[in-house]
This record gives sequence, structure tokens and C-alpha cells, in this order.
Amino acid sequence: MQELIRKLLTEMGEDPAREGLRDTPKRVEKAYKFLTSGYDADIDRVLNNALFAVDYSEMVIVKDIDFYSLCEHHLLPFFGKCHVAYIPSNKVIGLSKIPRLVDVFSRRLQVQERLTNQIADTIREKIAPLGVAVVMEATHLCMSMRGVEKQNSFAVTSAMVGAFRNSARTRMEFLELIKLRSAVPGLRDIAPAGLACIED
Ligand code: ZN
Repeated sequence: MQELIRKLLTEMGEDPAREGLRDTPKRVEKAYKFLTSGYDADIDRVLNNALFAVDYSEMVIVKDIDFYSLCEHHLLPFFGKCHVAYIPSNKVIGLSKIPRLVDVFSRRLQVQERLTNQIADTIREKIAPLGVAVVMEATHLCMSMRGVEKQNSFAVTSAMVGAFRNSARTRMEFLELIKLRSAVPGLRDIAPAGLACIED
């Protein structure tokens, strides 16, 4: 990877040999390896020993989870907050594992919709809850840094499964609890994240 970064610097019109850039390929490689480390993560190992049988069926919410990901169209960051909720049927996931799950899928090249769905699908597969909801709010640097359509640089995506899809009351309870930065009833009025930046 370091050789490619050196080439990239040259293509940008830089001199990879100048002092400030001498170790840049090494640092960039290290950074990208970390930012894409989610490909190597084994979900079952991440969740190991953290699935518990319970007799509990109230909504579990973990909100304001910070996440950082890379837009697969531009290799530029998008980042923000992720809110996760589920209603257990007979199993729960250790609370500290939810942010780990968000990290695993964030540390890949992503589009926000897919990232949102992958988190919800994994929880559904692993504990078969009565419902799962994932909402992600993110700023996309590929939009805001490049100055294109600034109003779309902030995107909200959601995945609602089971009770959160079927019951408006359950959904509203969740949305009320996370108090979105954007207007809640207008969730679907916001431009789809992945489609917003794909055009150029
Ligand atoms: Zn992009």
C-alpha cells in the first residue's frame, strides 16, 4: 500500500521525498488498515459470551453511539451518531457490545443505508428479538468538503424491523427517546445518504 500512496502523492503534484511527506505512506497505510479493520472482525467473536437469556421484554436502547466510516464512493469520512433499540424476545446482547457492533460495520467502505441495515440485521439474526430499530445521523465530508449541495451533507437513515415497523406507537416511542437532531416526523423527507454523493 505504501508504494501506491507514494504514487498518489506524486499524482497530486507533490514530492513524496520532501521531509513532511517522507513517512506519510507508512502513516496512511496504518490509518487505512485501522479504518477498514471491520472486514477482519468476526461477529461471533465480538459478541462472544455476551448473549444472555432473559425474561424481559421492554425496549432496550443504546443511543448517541459515535461512529466514523468511509464513503465507498469517495473514500472520504462520514460520521455521526447511531441509535439502536430492540425489544428482546428471550435473549439480550451485553450493552457494551452494541457500540462494538457499530464499529465493526463502520470500519469498512460503506454507504450509510447499508451500514444501518447491517447493524439491524445482525441483531435480528443473533437474538431474534421482537423488533429492532437502528437510526444513523451523519455528516458526509464528500458532500460538505467539496461544496456540493451542502444541504444534503447531513443524512438520516433508519432500519425498522418487527415491532418497530408494525407498531407506530413503538416506533414513535423510540424516536421520542432518541430525540433526533432532525425533525422526527420528516424522517423520510431526507435525501438518501448513499445516493446523495454518487453522482460525481
Ligand atoms: Zn461520497
